[in-house]
Amino acid sequence: MSITSFSQLPLNPALAKRLIDLNYVIPTAVQSASLQPVLEGQDLVVKGKTGSGKTLVFALAILNKLQLQLQTNDVQALVLCPTRELADQVAQEIKSVAAMIGNVKVQTLCGGVSIEPQMRSLQHGAHIIVGTPGRVEEHVLNGSLILTEVQTLVFDEADQMLDMGFTETLESIAMYLPQMRQTLMFSATYPDKIMKLATQYMRSPELIEAQEEQVHHSIKQTFYRLDNNKMRFNALRVLLMQHQPQSCIVFCNTKAETKRLFEELRQTGLACVELHGDLDQGEREWSLLTFANKSANILVATDVAARGLDVDEVELVINYHLALEPQTHVHRVGRTGRGEHKGVALSLYGEKETFKVDQLIELYGQALKHGTLPSHSLLEKPAYKSNMVTLMIEGGKQQKLRKADIVGCLTGEDGISFKQIGKINIYDVQAFVAVKREAAKPALRKLNNSKIKNKRYKALRA
Ligand code: ADP
Ligand code: MG
Repeated sequence: MSITSFSQLPLNPALAKRLIDLNYVIPTAVQSASLQPVLEGQDLVVKGKTGSGKTLVFALAILNKLQLQLQTNDVQALVLCPTRELADQVAQEIKSVAAMIGNVKVQTLCGGVSIEPQMRSLQHGAHIIVGTPGRVEEHVLNGSLILTEVQTLVFDEADQMLDMGFTETLESIAMYLPQMRQTLMFSATYPDKIMKLATQYMRSPELIEAQEEQVHHSIKQTFYRLDNNKMRFNALRVLLMQHQPQSCIVFCNTKAETKRLFEELRQTGLACVELHGDLDQGEREWSLLTFANKSANILVATDVAARGLDVDEVELVINYHLALEPQTHVHRVGRTGRGEHKGVALSLYGEKETFKVDQLIELYGQALKHGTLPSHSLLEKPAYKSNMVTLMIEGGKQQKLRKADIVGCLTGEDGISFKQIGKINIYDVQAFVAVKREAAKPALRKLNNSKIKNKRYKALRA
């Protein structure tokens, strides 16, 4: 049975109230179809595109049966994600939903950072672990992570974990889990491999698939046929200059192409950043931060790196090459036009890619709209600029800086207006605030000339 309101669910009252606070009013299609069975303890395979609200499904599955009153610090839920960014995002969402039900400890365990601090932290116990398979396995094997009390096991973006070659790692982790548990699997696509994984780890799982119809019709798609490959770069540039998006993802099929294209675009003066598997942790965070706060307008990305990342209001998606699989195309263009926003997706393709166009026509069941490229005279104009710029403040969590302190300072006497302030991100010893370009100078002056919580912090344009 599908539900039409969260109030129909047998939820812990604190969780139900929290959903209202978070403004989660109407369940998404995926949530509507899967929450009831999930809360009854059923094993599920849930197929749904990025942005369909899958995280909340497993967050509620985990939190609704979490036993806090037992004062136990045993790990009660394990969520496996393919990448560190996803793990961070998932952990954040779980914490946010859990905010009202007591002191829930959520620990992320991802590679790329040293293992010792994680081991020390695990000694204090954690209720929920969110991590990447490799690092979780390491902890399990060296005994720092005990999984015998796990009640809920979640594979998020399962298809991607399999594509990344984690099959054996998952097998190895599963050996340490109790038989009696609920297992939930989330995936954007549903290849045979997923079925195999499901039969291996789940008890008579039900497959839930939310209709993707919306995807096909709420997004305005235009295709551009290129006569030769040399035109591709300038075709992209004129489209960017025509649309001047403040938030655009350009998809490439390979890491090498992503890097090359990013370099070339950057040289034209456009505010772009890159996202692919070869970036280190700091670089990735920087790309995501500046793209999300809109001081970088264009994110050049591979599918794998951009998968599942939750950035709202992506105005425009451009396929620099058509995706290798039609399903991936659907997934890419689904990144724009979430919720009420109407999305726009543009795709470039050459002679060798026409078979992919045929596959898409078959998938969508209709002809694809083709366009002609705008005039190349647009290339003579200077690159358009981002509306926002990022300022860096040399103080963060360790100095107990909070968003409200920064907003308070900025909007104080001779400062800037609230409307000119964008996203604020606070890290350990630094904070980043996005402001409207025209407010950057006064904002910097204000930050550098005032005290926040009785201390002066240096601020500069990042
Ligand atoms: P997925 O994992 O399917 O890609 P997410 O779980 O990341 O999608 O959800 C995408 C966005 O939608 C998130 O910002 C989330 O907070 C929001 N969201 C999820 N469910 C709802 C809902 N019922 N109402 C409004 N927003 C929602
Ligand atoms: Mg997700």
